[in-house]
Amino acid sequence: MCSWKKNVREVVPYVPGEQPKQANVLKLNTNENPYPPAPEVMDAITLVSREDLSRYPDPDCTALREAIGKQYGFTKNEVFVGVGSDEVLSTAFLTFFASDTPILYPDITYEFYPVWANLYGIPFRCPKVDENFRIHKEDYYQKNGGIVIPNPNAPTSIGEPLDFVEDILQHNPDSVVIIDEAYADFSGVSALPLVKKYDNLLVTQTFSKSRSLAGMRIGYAIGQPELIAAMSAVRNSINSYTMNHYALAAGKAAVEADDYFRENVRKICSTREQTAERLRSLGFRFPDSRTNFFFAEHERVPARQLFEDLRKAGILVRYFDRPRVNNRLRITVGTPEQMDRLCQFLEEYLKKN
Ligand code: PMP
Repeated sequence: MCSWKKNVREVVPYVPGEQPKQANVLKLNTNENPYPPAPEVMDAITLVSREDLSRYPDPDCTALREAIGKQYGFTKNEVFVGVGSDEVLSTAFLTFFASDTPILYPDITYEFYPVWANLYGIPFRCPKVDENFRIHKEDYYQKNGGIVIPNPNAPTSIGEPLDFVEDILQHNPDSVVIIDEAYADFSGVSALPLVKKYDNLLVTQTFSKSRSLAGMRIGYAIGQPELIAAMSAVRNSINSYTMNHYALAAGKAAVEADDYFRENVRKICSTREQTAERLRSLGFRFPDSRTNFFFAEHERVPARQLFEDLRKAGILVRYFDRPRVNNRLRITVGTPEQMDRLCQFLEEYLKKN
């Protein structure tokens, strides 16, 4: 064996959903928004000049942090921005989870959490969600080195009310509690109103879903200034310029386009409710979704078979080959036309299978 190989860090990376190269694929596998971002976003991008590109971007991301803060009633010092909420969450893990006591997160949740924990050598313990995929708050009363919970949870699509989050905060004054709100705009429940009250709460959100900017990679965290300063120090120990000129401009324009954003979310929630009815009438079972996706099993056809046959028909959904979830598909809510194509295929398919 070459001598350098023993020095290579061993990791088990996260595997993102497929981004197909061919045209005409119905892409319902990564919870992207089916609508384009607000027109103002394109206008803002075109204002980035050639001269801008020869200069480093603002390392403090001042304008974007101020714009996000203004939208939600916070100052710049309460806002951290990063390259998608993945980078924000990764930075938060590295910053706040330095204890020898295991951190806690649900056993069925976002698959990136164990990846970061292993990468950074963070011990973790995963309380089991129940047979209906519900998280039990009492499981988070035990001693821990930190807590991270998505609300709504992914891939289950289940949202918990605000008093659930507050109860966990009240029981854990000595831990940083991260609430990953990647899908909260589709549930209408956010822990942001608790930020002023709890100095150990960090809320993360993203522009990838409800603001149609998955391709631009923008996420943020909101918390009290001490938390944000600690994250910034860690970020500045790795890379001072994570957000480029385009992302800074696009993010500011997107967060200011509030009417567009609200209408976009409304359309997706309305399509979600209509599609839920159709899928249930086709024999699918799933929890009430508070997100832009369903976590569905079929009463007869195994999920793996459905996943493969949908794929052959040019319809991509997500399948997780893991215990407890391996008979489920995660299906993103698209436009009404896209949901028609999905349901029409399924109607025909289920007559024959
Ligand atoms: N949290 C959860 C629960 C997610 O499902 C995702 C999307 N894969 C993210 C965070 C990260 O999204 P992004 O990096 O695009 O902001």
